[in-house]
Amino acid sequence: MPIHILSEVVAAQIAAGEVVERPASVVKELIENSLDAGARRVEIDVSDSSLRLIRISDDGHGIPAQEIELALMRHATSKLQTVDDLSRIRTLGFRGEALGSIASVARVTLTSHADDEETGAQIIVEGGQVIDKRAIGAPPGTTVEVANLFYNVPARRKFLKSESTERKHITNLISRYAMAYPGVRFAMTIEEREAFRTSGSGDLADVIIDTMGIEVFRDMVEVSPVESRRADLQLIEVSGFTTTPAQTRSNRSQIILFANGRTIQDQRLSYAVVQAYHTLIPQGRYPISILMIDMPPEEVDVNVHPTKAEVRFRSPDAVFSAVQHSVRAAVLNLSDTRQVTPPDFTGFNRSWDAPPDLLSESFRPTGARVVNPQQLGIDLDTPDAGRRSNQMSSYRDDDEDDDAFVQHIPSGNANPQYPRNLPPMRIVGQIAATYIVAEGPAGMYLIDQHAAHERIMYELFMRRHETQAAEKLVQHALESTVVELTAVNMRSVEEYLP
Ligand code: ADP
Ligand code: MG
Repeated sequence: MPIHILSEVVAAQIAAGEVVERPASVVKELIENSLDAGARRVEIDVSDSSLRLIRISDDGHGIPAQEIELALMRHATSKLQTVDDLSRIRTLGFRGEALGSIASVARVTLTSHADDEETGAQIIVEGGQVIDKRAIGAPPGTTVEVANLFYNVPARRKFLKSESTERKHITNLISRYAMAYPGVRFAMTIEEREAFRTSGSGDLADVIIDTMGIEVFRDMVEVSPVESRRADLQLIEVSGFTTTPAQTRSNRSQIILFANGRTIQDQRLSYAVVQAYHTLIPQGRYPISILMIDMPPEEVDVNVHPTKAEVRFRSPDAVFSAVQHSVRAAVLNLSDTRQVTPPDFTGFNRSWDAPPDLLSESFRPTGARVVNPQQLGIDLDTPDAGRRSNQMSSYRDDDEDDDAFVQHIPSGNANPQYPRNLPPMRIVGQIAATYIVAEGPAGMYLIDQHAAHERIMYELFMRRHETQAAEKLVQHALESTVVELTAVNMRSVEEYLP
């Protein structure tokens, strides 16, 4: 094939791939447009498949009838004029690419009634070609319907995940925008069934309760900007909510960050949050944090990624410090006011009728500050515990050879070298109703009480699993229970229902 210049339509279809990766990207772009238009209400409907129909309507300022066709062209925007404008951009969009890209890979019906106009206008574009355009009666605001997404890009369709995964992405995304804009009412329906709603009260706390549930919110503390003598830190304000060390997750997906109202992914800043919990939560556990990082627009370069998911900060270190300090301050303040209450294991006693030595009353660590030796099934009267501890003291006195010492500690996840069976130990005490300090042949042992309990339960279940038929391990409740779930959790339940 000789070299030739691609037609506008083909070039647009290829470029669209950068902006519109999946149904959730369409939702993202359309929500951002609604928010940029000053909407107080944003409604999202997904019909049986998000590829078949996504509809977003808002009550924003609308698009003037004579600009409606332009809005669907690539590189058409009302948000900036020159490259310089980029440095002080306050809108979520600015590339003028979204509507054009979407219209080149789907059938888009755009209906809008601008603030200062008598009637509305509607335009239908399919695969980049205008099909119809007319004046029409419509409520103030804008509605965009995206049908048959990727109908002309079969390759993209093939790479899409299941519909339930797409819906989960969409719900996650909407909850993020709802958090960043608590004053806006969001409502999502799937096949005309309400999946998600926020009140638009203006209070981030309300949105967190709507999206993550009251249970999670109860374990959260408020993060507010810290006073600092560093001028660069003063420019950066970090606010939001973060969990107490009692509520953690096994991955960092619930560390949700916004920079100037834009949801961002930033490994380094997630790490700053985790760092703020240093020594407060075990390694490999992560808090749930919703953080708004606000700074003057010229401190952020938002134009580094077609989907605007990443941003670049002018002083990344200052942002890192501000996040870490604010979160740390919020979490530490709490130690006087709240107690870390261990989880309640009451349920296990009844349903599993486990051996009394493992699940006796005394095992339940409900608020107990003093460890009962039976809890670990450890013989406390190790005769020569004291002598061993003397031996250990010869280990080292000064911290000169810190590094050498650290090298003795095995690290990494592969094949831990420590013995699988614990030696006899003498319990010395308990810290924060969370750790058990014990003395044994190799020195001091620090036992994570909850992890130990989980391990005991695990061994118990596995032993039963080996000796009994699997179905005997399941015990159905006599009466059904109503469980309140957030929209996102409900998506997961639906996904695993089969
Ligand atoms: P960008 O948002 O980067 O400007 P888009 O392609 O997303 O580019 O939108 C093009 C233009 O269409 C916007 O600049 C805006 O003027 C207009 N527009 C799009 N959606 C809406 C909406 N929901 N309400 C009002 N105007 C809109
Ligand atoms: Mg846009």
